[in-house]
Amino acid sequence: MGTLRSVAPVAVAGFVAFGLAVWFSIIVWTFMDIRSRSRDKVVWGFATALVVLFNVFGLVVYLILRPHETLMQAYERSLEEEALLQEIEERPICPNCRHRVEQDYRMCPNCLQKLKDICMNCDRLVELDWTVCPFCTAERKVPVALTGESA
Ligand SMILES: [Zn+2]
Ligand SMILES: [Zn+2]
Repeated sequence: MGTLRSVAPVAVAGFVAFGLAVWFSIIVWTFMDIRSRSRDKVVWGFATALVVLFNVFGLVVYLILRPHETLMQAYERSLEEEALLQEIEERPICPNCRHRVEQDYRMCPNCLQKLKDICMNCDRLVELDWTVCPFCTAERKVPVALTGESA
C-alpha cells in the first residue's frame, strides 16, 4: 500500500507535466502556423488565445477556421495568375474582329483579315506596313500589299 501512495502523485505529476508540454507545444505550433498564414496581429492573438484557453479543443477550432493558404502559397498563386494574365495580354489579337491570333498567322481565321505578308524575296513573314523586309533587306511595295491580291 505504501508504494501505491508514493507512486500515484509521481504519476499524476508526470501526466500533468506531459499535458502542459503538449499544451505549450500546440500553442507554439499554432502561433507559428498562423504567422505563416496571416499578417494580421489580431488574428495571431485570436488564434493563439483559442489554444491557450481551450487547449486541444481550441486547436481543433483553429484547424477548421484557419486560412487555407499560407502567405507563401498565396504569393505564389498571385505570381502565377499575373504571369497567366500577362501571357493573355501579350497574345496578339486581330485588329479587325479582336479574335485571338498567333504571332505567325498570315490571316485571321475568324474574319479572314490579312495580318501579315510574306516577303517575295525570302518568304519570311513581314508586317503589312513595312517598306523593307528586315530579313533580306528587299524593298516592298507597301501600297500594293495593303490593297490586296487584286492590285
Ligand atoms: Zn479577325
Ligand atoms: Zn525578305
